[in-house]
Amino acid sequence: MNRIQSGRMPLIRLTALLLVMALLFSAALASGGSTPQMHRAAAEESVDDLRDEKAKLEAEQQELATQRDKTAATLEAQEAQKALLQQQIDVKVAEISVNKKLLDELDAKIGDKNYEIAQKEQAIGKKEAEISDRFQELRQRLRTIFMRGTMTSKLQMLLDSENLSDYLMQTKAMERLTASNRVLMDELEAQLQAIKLDKLSLEADKEALAKERAPIVELQTELNTKKQELDVLYSEINAVTEQLNADIDHYNASIAESEAAAARIQDKIDDIIRTTIGTGQAFLSGSMYWPAPTALIISSTFKTRWGRLHGGIDITGGGCYGEPIVAAADGVVQIAEWDDSYGYYVMIDHGNDSAGRRIMTLYGHSCQLLVSPGQTVSAGETIALIGSTGNSTGAHLHFEVRVDGDRVDPIANGYVSTSGITIDESL
Ligand SMILES: [Zn+2]
Repeated sequence: MNRIQSGRMPLIRLTALLLVMALLFSAALASGGSTPQMHRAAAEESVDDLRDEKAKLEAEQQELATQRDKTAATLEAQEAQKALLQQQIDVKVAEISVNKKLLDELDAKIGDKNYEIAQKEQAIGKKEAEISDRFQELRQRLRTIFMRGTMTSKLQMLLDSENLSDYLMQTKAMERLTASNRVLMDELEAQLQAIKLDKLSLEADKEALAKERAPIVELQTELNTKKQELDVLYSEINAVTEQLNADIDHYNASIAESEAAAARIQDKIDDIIRTTIGTGQAFLSGSMYWPAPTALIISSTFKTRWGRLHGGIDITGGGCYGEPIVAAADGVVQIAEWDDSYGYYVMIDHGNDSAGRRIMTLYGHSCQLLVSPGQTVSAGETIALIGSTGNSTGAHLHFEVRVDGDRVDPIANGYVSTSGITIDESL
């Protein structure tokens, strides 16, 4: 870059030159890479636009957060309802379980009865078979007796008997036989009846159990129906809460998206401010304005004077009292106040230079300050008037350039040009 002879250059010519440079720089950047050097006014305008855009996003975030919080409140109510339903379902499940146990016990008892009844039936069958066998056997023996003779009845027996004694013997034998069998048969018959009675009693028991079972089965059906109803309600409310949760996630995602967009805008704003408005300027040799356009004499240079560093340059000129002091470059006023040594003084923050160093300028001994801290100032803008306040012996401007907080020689480092400036330290 060229050395700009800004020291005595008329402001209009300088502004025009800076504009051309800015245009050239932008053109170079259009095909290249880093941040465009926008014109200050355009930059400020675009910063305003970006801030509006960001404010809109922030309002949108606020609205989304309100909606989300409303949804969350609804969700909370639904969750409480859901928890209540779950409790009711749990109670039903417990009731069903208790009832099921009762039913199972009853079914076990009925099963036992069925088994016992089956046993009895078996016993009855066996007894009946025994009776039948016994009867068959008796018939066989009687038949044998009858067949031995040709008799078929007592009368026939009598008629066939050779004598009475023979008859009596035969009938006696038959009677003995039948009598002993009768006893046995009666006994068997009695046993059969007893078994049948047992079976009847078992069947009565079973019937009683079945009667007992009916209401339990009915209750179980009822409980199951109730639980199914609750399950339906639960699944409905569950669908609602899932939807609400999804809505909340959606709101949060939208908010995060909007926040990211706002952050990107803030980055852009920071970028523009850093690169264009008062910061990030090249601060090339002679790139700063001469800070006192009408005072053209340096009465004291940057050097060690009387054993201590004179950390700036003193600028004066005939009748300079009350003449303007201008900002040497774009920046933000950091200090504008009284100091016992500097008198009324201004310090301007110009942001970082291309090497990332913080550049500041200081203007001392003013008789009047025209800016206040936080104010953005442009290069060449009047910020104070030359005076002789503080540790001063005559009207002059004490001008300093600070790089990363250290005072440096503004001339030797090329911040201001001495072209057209007289150095006369005899004053
Ligand atoms: Zn000085």
